[in-house]
Amino acid sequence: MRTAIIGGGVAGLAAAYELEKARAAGAAIEYTLYEATPRLGGVVASEIVDGAVLERGPDSFLSEKPAAAELCRELGLGSELLGSNDADRKTCIVVRNRLIPLPDGLMFLVPTKLIPTALTPLFSPMTKARMALELLHPPRPSNDEDESVASLVERHFGAEAVDRLADPLLSGIYGGDAAQLSARTVLPRLVEMEAEFGSLTRGMLAAHRKMRAAAAHGNGRPANQRPGPRSIFTTLRGGLQQMVDALAARIDPAAARLSAPVNSLSKSTGGWSVRAGGETKLYHSVIAATPAWAAAALLSGVDAELAEELGAIPYSSSITVNLIYNEANLGPLPEGFGFLVPASEGRAMLACTFVHRKFLGRTPRGKAVLRAFLGGMKNEALLDKSDAALIAAVRQELGEILSRTGLARGIEPEFAQVSRWRRAMAQYAVGHRQRQQRIAERVARLDGLRLAGNAYDGIGVSDCIRLGRQAARELMAAGQTAQA
Ligand SMILES: Cc1cc2nc3c(=O)[nH]c(=O)nc-3n(C[C@H](O)[C@H](O)[C@H](O)COP(=O)(O)OP(=O)(O)OC[C@H]3O[C@@H](n4cnc5c(N)ncnc54)[C@H](O)[C@@H]3O)c2cc1C
Repeated sequence: MRTAIIGGGVAGLAAAYELEKARAAGAAIEYTLYEATPRLGGVVASEIVDGAVLERGPDSFLSEKPAAAELCRELGLGSELLGSNDADRKTCIVVRNRLIPLPDGLMFLVPTKLIPTALTPLFSPMTKARMALELLHPPRPSNDEDESVASLVERHFGAEAVDRLADPLLSGIYGGDAAQLSARTVLPRLVEMEAEFGSLTRGMLAAHRKMRAAAAHGNGRPANQRPGPRSIFTTLRGGLQQMVDALAARIDPAAARLSAPVNSLSKSTGGWSVRAGGETKLYHSVIAATPAWAAAALLSGVDAELAEELGAIPYSSSITVNLIYNEANLGPLPEGFGFLVPASEGRAMLACTFVHRKFLGRTPRGKAVLRAFLGGMKNEALLDKSDAALIAAVRQELGEILSRTGLARGIEPEFAQVSRWRRAMAQYAVGHRQRQQRIAERVARLDGLRLAGNAYDGIGVSDCIRLGRQAARELMAAGQTAQA
């Protein structure tokens, strides 16, 4: 019996890998991985230019989410895993061209240390007073109603905290808009803390105390088995492309079909008909690992209501611009990993990472790699600009923000590269959880169908890998990939 996997991003690749493992172990499984473009990996794409690792899409995964590192170890890439250089971790917010470090003690948008919060120039005296008074915020009776991240943060800390904290952090990382994103989905811990403690600061301090106590007791482990401190981000020395290449090498070469967009999908008593490249094949099960909007188009003739729910999940587009500079010409950059730019600054750039600082050993000595992130929900029009215009805009903005470096004199990068990702990042808008539930209910009625990817239960690389593998395992457990 056969399974079709539609979409060769990390979610689809992880699903194919899981099926391949079972097939290699002797299970009667056949699968085809259909990918619309000529390459596998989806938005995960990196290359090495003049010895520097350049990530076109994601640059790392969160270390606290284990699925990606686990998969890398299984693929024999354990020794290639590289933690972020957290000793130098410091993130700044741009306010009127000044770089202001996030105050010490900030946890998930919540200030927990009085003195750094009182002293930071990031907030006005009014916002600081509001932050102090937040300790008295009464508990909110738990209800199922969702609200936006902006609304939750504004109720507690005021509008300036949305503008200078929530919005840049969410848009600089995931191209999201705090006014649209669901608090229940994106910040579930804060919603729970509000119900229990009222004050998010008190809730965060209580959670921190609990974590410290657990860590002091080694989380129940004997002293010699306790893990050391972990970096916040993990990547691969040669770029995340290493993981894509290792996955592609494991998959049966006859199973991967590149430049093969699936044009239609239909269901009959015999199974699922998948049409691609003028050819229709019948499968017993299907894993749709495309963006939700693409799955919506494919499923519209199968279940119009499901397609409508999938099509209603908003997506944002983003652009990355990688620039390689000679450090001697560049001069000293400010400390830290880079900066985030609030929308109120009116710039094209949402964020910039000092790549050579964030991950050591991926850039040759004497070179600096700056990676700008643009686009997001509020600036889709940038996608239509030419590479030259985008590079010029980034260089101009960098010169204005990093005015004490050679960038202000317009020094030329040794290399510049633009990558556009259209409608690639799902946005968990207000009400996402309920939508996800409705989608799960409809999918459960369609025998042999699974959905995987960043639109459902986690946007990160690790989440997509977990969901891809889970989809394949569920189908195998249900016998929908095995010989009848
Ligand atoms: C610029 C950027 C930076 C990011 N940074 C990070 C980060 O640092 N850390 C992190 O954890 N996450 C990050 N993310 C998020 C994360 O990378 C993605 O959510 C994840 O990689 C998505 O994987 P996917 O397989 O679900 O989707 P995709 O990678 O979008 O893959 C879907 C695939 O489906 C294919 N497809 C679509 N329609 C069809 C069809 N009809 N037939 C066949 N194939 C089809 C597409 O061509 C594509 O290859 C970032 C994302 C972007 C865009």
